[in-house]
Amino acid sequence: MELGIAGKTALVCGASKGLGYGCAEALVKEGVNVVIVARTAADLQAAAARLQAVATQGATVNYVAADITTEAGRAEVFASHADFDIVVTNAGGPPPGDFRDWDKQAWFKAVEANMYTPIALIQATIDGMAARGFGRIINITSSAVKAPIDVLGLSNGARSGLTGFVAGVARSGIAAQGVTINNILPGLFDTDRLRGITANAMQKSGKSKEAVQSAQQARIPVRRFGQPHEFGALCAFLCSDLAGYITGQNMLIDGGAYSGTF
Ligand code: NAP
Repeated sequence: MELGIAGKTALVCGASKGLGYGCAEALVKEGVNVVIVARTAADLQAAAARLQAVATQGATVNYVAADITTEAGRAEVFASHADFDIVVTNAGGPPPGDFRDWDKQAWFKAVEANMYTPIALIQATIDGMAARGFGRIINITSSAVKAPIDVLGLSNGARSGLTGFVAGVARSGIAAQGVTINNILPGLFDTDRLRGITANAMQKSGKSKEAVQSAQQARIPVRRFGQPHEFGALCAFLCSDLAGYITGQNMLIDGGAYSGTF
């Protein structure tokens, strides 16, 4: 399948590992230039080298070590490149816990990372995309937006706010100017984030890693965790020229775990 995006330039946030890396990898393999962002410079540099090794059609890989949830971090990113054709928003997820323990500060932090930051990135790039007649924005959210997970209340709340905002803006004037915005909702993927959640469940339940993981997988019809490259493939398709008629959608990728007809 020819995705028709070689030569475009993408900003992929939270891309030194996990799902963001999976998206960056799928895009560079399609000949898309990428700017990847994460906070830990050494991991980011290593990721950039791995990505450059699989890039096709002369695609370039650049990186900015920054905290994308801060004004300063975003300014650094846009100083490196301003006119992105594709933006993948992602900033790691809030910690699990009991809602009784979360104060205003914890809520503001979650909203800043998982609601306001994607909105700020959309705000900074969308009009340029519309003026050039092409744009693709993908927000990595969570299956918890559709099927809330009690210990991830900060994620359930903050990401639902983003989802509501995107539903409106995706259908605004920019839709007729070649710009699409979609959210991808991961179920359980084999990444450091999931490993952290598993460790938390082990600590809370006193169960072994094997017992926790087999209980997690038993709830997934395909009986395994997803892999970042599978996530990246969906992301690259939604960023493609072929996906111009898909906007304002929330795409689950969860091995069938969400048990609903729609
Ligand atoms: P991950 O493996 O922990 O990777 C997170 C990536 O984001 C890393 O590259 C990390 O690098 C970077 N990052 C984190 N905070 C950042 C910040 N403030 N600024 C810039 N970069 C930042 O996580 P993942 O599993 O890929 O998860 C990606 C997103 O999907 C998260 O929001 C997560 O909650 C959500 N999600 C994941 C799953 C799953 O099963 N994996 C399920 C549902 C939802 P640094 O730490 O060096 O910055």
